[in-house]
Amino acid sequence: RMKDDGKNNYTIFKPIPNSGIERLTLENSIRKALQLNEFVLYYQPKIDTLTGQIIGTEALVRWNHPTLGLIPPGKFIPIAEETGLIVPLGEWVLRTACSQNKIWKEKGYPPMSVSVNLSSRQFSKHNLVESIKEILLETRIDPQYLELEITESMTMNVEVAIEVLGRLKELGIQICIDDFGTGYSNLYYLKLFSIDRLKIDQSFVRDIMTDSNDANIVATIIAMAHNLGIDVIAEGVETKEQLDFLRSQGCHEVQGFYYHPPLPAEQIEQLLLKTLSM
Ligand code: C2E
Ligand code: CA
Ligand code: CA
Ligand code: CA
Repeated sequence: RMKDDGKNNYTIFKPIPNSGIERLTLENSIRKALQLNEFVLYYQPKIDTLTGQIIGTEALVRWNHPTLGLIPPGKFIPIAEETGLIVPLGEWVLRTACSQNKIWKEKGYPPMSVSVNLSSRQFSKHNLVESIKEILLETRIDPQYLELEITESMTMNVEVAIEVLGRLKELGIQICIDDFGTGYSNLYYLKLFSIDRLKIDQSFVRDIMTDSNDANIVATIIAMAHNLGIDVIAEGVETKEQLDFLRSQGCHEVQGFYYHPPLPAEQIEQLLLKTLSM
């Protein structure tokens, strides 16, 4: 479903293999890639449209393959999830994102949050909270600047979700529901789970100008979030028209190609330098 329209400079890579042997090969390559440190994080700026400021970034993993080039997450995250390799990979992502955020803070850039995607496999792992606690201590990042993006499906086991999210909130970090509107949502639980932010899925944003159903859904999500005192961000914003619609509905946090694609850390720093000198 992901659009590779050249903005991410992805090389063409084979679809997710179906045969057992190809899967096993991919599994072994992922394991090796972890050891060889071939994964890299790109960061997509999150913009406050009222001030134009970068208020944070979302860390998005890529595999910098020595011969195949940059491989998008859609090609390896599913296998990493199936095989459990998402747990060490996810820890690497968390640690790297937190230390990068700390580096930017120490260089004196205005405070920014970093959002990290969690997979359900990580979420249901008993030591998730412990390992996040460790990473916070190690990287000495202020917990309020770490946001975890979870999906609606992870909250389906209500008891587990209350327990895990409660302990994560105790650490002082932020919780965002990613891809909001695409899965199971129980509005009552949003309040119960003390969710900080909803991210409107890009599939709704995409057709906002042409599909009145999508426009209505988006408007309703924004109003509902406001009523519940939850922040709301829209992803996949590609045009001025989409941006204007979102703003008219009161959604002022956005990310998308209209502003910036996901970028390597050095390019984020160039952007930050530019903003500082303005
Ligand atoms: P996601 O969390 O929904 O991330 C948003 C995806 O939309 C990213 O694709 C991003 O590059 C892309 N995108 C950003 N702006 C635009 C836009 O304006 N238009 C369009 N069409 N697309 C836009 P990416 O980086 O390929 O990531 C795909 C998915 O892979 C992510 O979807 C996320 O579910 C997963 N993923 C990425 N990194 C991680 C990670 O570190 N851990 C886990 N568990 N999953 C990850
Ligand atoms: Ca996300
Ligand atoms: Ca999404
Ligand atoms: Ca997602």
